[in-house]
Amino acid sequence: MEENNYTPNRTTPTAEAAPVQGTVTEVRNDQTLAQSQGTKFCKHCGGKIPSDAVLCTLCGRQVEELNNGHSQPQIVINNTNDNINANINAGGIGRVRNKWVALVLCLFFGLIGGHKFYEGKAGMGILYIFTMGLFGIGVLVDFISILFKPVHYYV
Ligand SMILES: [Zn+2]
Repeated sequence: MEENNYTPNRTTPTAEAAPVQGTVTEVRNDQTLAQSQGTKFCKHCGGKIPSDAVLCTLCGRQVEELNNGHSQPQIVINNTNDNINANINAGGIGRVRNKWVALVLCLFFGLIGGHKFYEGKAGMGILYIFTMGLFGIGVLVDFISILFKPVHYYV
């Protein structure tokens, strides 16, 4: 006895008048043969979908288990992002500044607080803008102060 999966005599009701073109009319998988051709309702969104649909054609979610003989591995992607970005430089402490950059900024933009902004001291920079570098005295003091700093200093 030969086991035939193709069921050559199986015809759809509308295809009765059509001439049979071959012995193999339709090749369908077992899941389709088990269920009559029709529609079913998605258990997720309740939409009307074909009965042989594994994924809902409306909401895209899985409505049928994919166990055609061999079981599909369940892939659970659990990406938990535990990366806490502890940026110690964001607090305004421990930042490295170059002495020469600060010196040049103090020389050319000192009256508007260029070196103060470079050191991250925006408040002092704004104060320098309105007071023209503490009437020039602040810039002078800062220039000498920066001059005697190490090349890489911390602000
Ligand atoms: Zn759905």
